Amino acid sequence: MSEALLELDRLKTYFPITSGLFNRTVGHVRAVDDISLTIAPGETFGLVGESGSGKSTVGRTIVRLTEKTSGQVKFKGNDLHDLSDQEMRKIRPKIQLIFQDPYSSLNPRVRIGDAIGEALLDHGMASKQELREKVQEVLGLCGLSSYHIDRFPHEFSGGQRQRVGIARALILNPDLIIADEPVSALDVSIQAQIINLFRKLQDTRGLTYLFISHDLSVVEHLCSRIGVMYLGSMMEIASRDELFQNPLHPYTKALLSAIPMPIPKVKRDRIVLKGDIPNPANPPAGCKFHTRCPYAKDICKQQIPTFREVTAGHLVACHLV
Ligand code: SF4
Repeated sequence: MSEALLELDRLKTYFPITSGLFNRTVGHVRAVDDISLTIAPGETFGLVGESGSGKSTVGRTIVRLTEKTSGQVKFKGNDLHDLSDQEMRKIRPKIQLIFQDPYSSLNPRVRIGDAIGEALLDHGMASKQELREKVQEVLGLCGLSSYHIDRFPHEFSGGQRQRVGIARALILNPDLIIADEPVSALDVSIQAQIINLFRKLQDTRGLTYLFISHDLSVVEHLCSRIGVMYLGSMMEIASRDELFQNPLHPYTKALLSAIPMPIPKVKRDRIVLKGDIPNPANPPAGCKFHTRCPYAKDICKQQIPTFREVTAGHLVACHLV
């Protein structure tokens, strides 16, 4: 693998729980708990897990919408959390975040052309004269028409709004796009169009993606490597083919067994997980998954399994592997 574009090293993001008159800290929600991963230039890395697994907090911590508790977030070798505000401002265009609902970040009274172009002006990356042409170019890249530039957000469908969200990110010419559940709110046919757009843009622009989703079947279509998170911890990382054909962690197996497949590529028995994801403020001792794992042994309740490489590029945290 070539040198990493993004490297997370033992990243922790904890949120304090306060109580009482003086707001004393009485505990922490361990949203991200000791995560390490690398993403190479041009790669698409998928981060999956149930709601509450901490995957969105990973994305937000990378771009410093949330401050880390400890560990490192290195982009092109620089720890983003060590940079001054001025240095961070220079790097910001290079890392763009796309959300599930781009509509909420659009001002209903601002025309789409202005909404897409404002960041370009803000960062001094274009003059007012150049702006219209650049916005029209990026609209075209995202499958929208040049006349959309003068329309207002309410005039767009869900799929078109997500294209606008992608255009807003793309106009800053980023190296890394963090897409947080970008297709979850869309119909299946529109999902396929947006995934194809992500793929096309990667081919033409050499983009790198961190694609965050609760849906393994969506991630399968786009990502070359996948990380599976549970309760703030990484449970398994492998290439897409390896993960789908040879999942090792019981949690990954359970997620995969829930994907409906008309013609299964690999025969899988359905594994139904009992109970809900535990409270991240008070995670179970030992393996965090032991309260729901059908294979849990005594050791699982006592010792945290080491996240280790079991075959080349396949890492897993489980005592039984
Ligand atoms: Fe299940 Fe134990 Fe493996 Fe955790 S360490 S996933 S509880 S078998």
